Amino acid sequence: MTLINGKELSQKIRKNVKKEIETLETVGITPGLAVLLVGDDPASKTYVSMKEKACEEAGIYSIVHKMPNSISQNKILEILDMINKNDYIDGILVQLPLPAQIDTNKILETIDPSKDVDGFHPFNVGRLVSNLDSFVPCTPLGVMRMFEEYGIDPKGKDVCIVGASNIVGKPMLNLLLNAGATVDICHIFTKDLKAHTSKADIVIVGVGKAGLISQDMVKDNAIVIDIGINRLESGKLVGDVDFKTVAPKCSFITPVPGGVGPMTIAMLLENTLKAAKNRNKKKVK
Ligand code: NAD
Repeated sequence: MTLINGKELSQKIRKNVKKEIETLETVGITPGLAVLLVGDDPASKTYVSMKEKACEEAGIYSIVHKMPNSISQNKILEILDMINKNDYIDGILVQLPLPAQIDTNKILETIDPSKDVDGFHPFNVGRLVSNLDSFVPCTPLGVMRMFEEYGIDPKGKDVCIVGASNIVGKPMLNLLLNAGATVDICHIFTKDLKAHTSKADIVIVGVGKAGLISQDMVKDNAIVIDIGINRLESGKLVGDVDFKTVAPKCSFITPVPGGVGPMTIAMLLENTLKAAKNRNKKKVK
C-alpha cells in the first residue's frame, strides 16, 4: 500500500509557483488574489487565513474583504463589481458557504470568468465539460495532480465518485471523463452505495460523513481518495473513509489530514498564477 503524500507534493508545487512568481516580478507582474469572507463561520475563517498565508509565502498579493453575516446581496455585488474592475487583482475567491439570504449562484455568476480561480462560474464549468482550457475547481484539480505524480492513469479505469456537489463531485466527474475513465457518481439518493464502490478501481469520496466508506465497500488493490473533512468530538480530524481498516486493502490511499487538503491550496496558488499570466499575456513569454 502506498500512502499518497499530499502535504509533500503540495510543498513541491508551492515552491515551483513561488519560483515562477519571482520570474514574473522581473517584468513587473505581482499576481493578486481577492477573497470575500462573509460572516464568522470558524471553518471558513480558518480556510481563509490558510489561503492568505499560502499567498504570502508564494509572493501573491492578497486582500481579504471581510463582511458581516447580515450583509445584503446588493452590497456584495457592488464589492464584486469593484474587484472585477481592479487591475491589481487577477483572482477572486468567494469563501463558501454564504449566509442564507444570499443567492450563491448569483454571486458566483458575477465574478469575471477570467478571474474565477475557483472555477465555479458557469462559463468555466461549461468549458470544463467541453474539455476546453478553463479554471478548474481546486480540490478535484488537486486529485488529478496526485494521480499524475503517483503514475496513476485514470484512462480505462472504473471510477466511483461518492458526493456530487458542484465544488467536488461534478468537476471530478468531468475531469475523469476527459481523462478517459468510466465514471459512476453516487449521492445521498443512491440506493446501494456499496454495489457501486465495491466494483471500482478508484473510489473518490467527498461527502462529509466520517466512516462512510468501510473496508467491505472497496475491492482489493483499489485506489482510494478521501476528500472528506470531519472533526470528531475528540477534536481529531478524519476523512470519510475508515482509514484503519480500508488502507491495508488498497494499492494507494490518501490520508486525512495531509492528503487532498493541502493540494487544494496549492491548486489555488497555481490558478491565481495562471490568471495573472493570462491577463498579462503581452508581458509574459
Ligand atoms: P456538499 O454538502 O455540498 O455535498 C455533499 C455530497 O455528498 C452531496 O452530493 C450529497 O448528495 C452527498 N451525500 C451526502 N450524504 C451521503 C451519503 N450518505 N451517501 C452518499 N452520498 C452522500 O459538500 P461538499 O462541499 O462537496 O464537501 C464534501 C466534503 O468534502 C466535506 O467533508 C468537505 O469538508 C470536504 N471538502 C474538502 C476539501 C479539501 O480541500 N479537502 C474541499 C472541499 C470540500
